[in-house]
Amino acid sequence: MNKAKRILSNRILNPLVLHAYRTGKRRLACRLERSKLYNPPHLLGGEKTQWYPPDQMEKLQQKKLQVILSHAYENVPYYHRIFKERNLKPEDIKSTEDLSKLPILTKDVIRRDFDDLIAKNATEEDLIFNSTSGSTGEPLKFYMDWSLQEHQMMGKYRAWSWRGISLTEKRADIFGGLDAEKKKSRPDRLWVSVFNLSEDTIDYYVNKLVEFQPRFIRGFPSALYLIARYMLKEGIDKVCPIAVTTTAEALFEYQRREIANAFGCEVFDHYGAREHAVGSFECPEHFGYHISGDNGVLEFIKDGENVSAGEEGAIVVTDFTHFSMPFIRYKIGDVGVPSGELCPCGRGLPVMESVIGRISDIVVTPQNKYISGSVLSHIFKNLNIEEFMILQETKKDFTIKIVKGGNYSSNDSEYIHTNFKKHVDPDININIEFVDSIPTTKAGKRCFVKSEVQKFL
Ligand SMILES: [Zn+2]
Repeated sequence: MNKAKRILSNRILNPLVLHAYRTGKRRLACRLERSKLYNPPHLLGGEKTQWYPPDQMEKLQQKKLQVILSHAYENVPYYHRIFKERNLKPEDIKSTEDLSKLPILTKDVIRRDFDDLIAKNATEEDLIFNSTSGSTGEPLKFYMDWSLQEHQMMGKYRAWSWRGISLTEKRADIFGGLDAEKKKSRPDRLWVSVFNLSEDTIDYYVNKLVEFQPRFIRGFPSALYLIARYMLKEGIDKVCPIAVTTTAEALFEYQRREIANAFGCEVFDHYGAREHAVGSFECPEHFGYHISGDNGVLEFIKDGENVSAGEEGAIVVTDFTHFSMPFIRYKIGDVGVPSGELCPCGRGLPVMESVIGRISDIVVTPQNKYISGSVLSHIFKNLNIEEFMILQETKKDFTIKIVKGGNYSSNDSEYIHTNFKKHVDPDININIEFVDSIPTTKAGKRCFVKSEVQKFL
């Protein structure tokens, strides 16, 4: 087969490459054609490693950890300094438990030591600029390389395969992106921007979904919930995907129920971030989230120590796949609960019991108890309100912003006062503030709780 024919058949046979071309990512497509992802059934070996029993997974992690640590020590000035200061060599960190010998990498450190975090041997091609949306403050700027992107895709596509979804499935995406509707919509893909989604436009978008008939829907839970509620209210049951995937915001149980009812399928939550490839995904057993342990390690830290299974801790990520700007023990700003058990599906990938949300989404009581936004959201479930947001200014001072529903009365305010005090603390001060709307973040994400009280680590 000559070269042109081979390339053409690669594109036809390889949905990953085809997808990259279709979405205008030519450089990625070219890279994929050359990479091991060329053969999708062997997603960088992830198809096999997901079934590794715990001891084999641990050995794989130790091996990959050594590779990234040695690279960081030899090529990344920041890490070279960190190792030297502690009189450590990469081989002194033999297991993932030994990671505690290294300091936590915070977003402030990344901003301060940005240049020193770039590997000296990174080529121009390895430095792809990216940034996070900064939902709770300043956006974080960083470089990513192809290896990171490939492994992120591996984790994601592997999880899709658990739900019977292939990469080329007809798909509706309901995310941020102001201009995305025009730019990203294609015959096999419908893009709905949450910025355009409101009570006034929802019938238009639901009609679009009915017309488009997606086989797979992905989106922010708050937006999908809005659509699901409308469909259930109007008795629309003509959108029947194989599965719905939610991501980027905390998924509350009542949202999951309504979305599943409206679309007549299971909802799978996904937790991940642009900065690393250690995404976590629900499988059909819904036994927590499978961590992509073959791409890196998640630690769960409270007061400087690893928490026990079942306890909440700040998520700290060590990525094995990112070489141009390695993130080792990166505190991402979210809180999760590790599980001590394995999923009944038989996959050996470690399990995270639940994602509590962003650190800033967690309320701290005057008695130093942590309460997640999802617990507090239950208080507002059956009230006459359209939207709410909880702001914690100090351990004792709360402002609750409310967009009133049609039948709102003083009984609703009273219910909030009573139940909020019951769940948080009887001595707190609550100020209810009525507003016309609650703005989303720059990325279109909805934030239910914002606590300004310092916590974790
Ligand atoms: Zn499982």
